[in-house]
Amino acid sequence: MKRVAEKIRQNISLRKGDMVRVMRGKDREEFHNKSARVLSVDAVTMKVTVEHAHMIKRHTRPNPSKNIKGGIVEREGPIHISNVMLVCPACNKPTRIGHNRLADGSRVRICRRCGLSVDK
Ligand SMILES: [Zn+2]
Repeated sequence: MKRVAEKIRQNISLRKGDMVRVMRGKDREEFHNKSARVLSVDAVTMKVTVEHAHMIKRHTRPNPSKNIKGGIVEREGPIHISNVMLVCPACNKPTRIGHNRLADGSRVRICRRCGLSVDK
């Protein structure tokens, strides 16, 4: 793990459960025109994990008390948020995210392409 000098939480417009498209990296060809779900968001390192994208092999030590078998486990690796784009549920295209303040003061994320809200 890389050490983070200062743990500053950044404002990340992506949220767990969002559908995104991976734009860079070795999964690009495979993920072209396919969207995948965000599994976790790290606001400190500004990285997300995306379902079935950027699989890494993790070497784990067996821990019988936690019922963890040792060996090589494949799991999703973190991808920097600049390398993924949110897929708008309305126009179904990768888009940048805008913000809009509603009349009641709450904030919603909007699609920069079609202007519709990407939140339910
Ligand atoms: Zn849209």
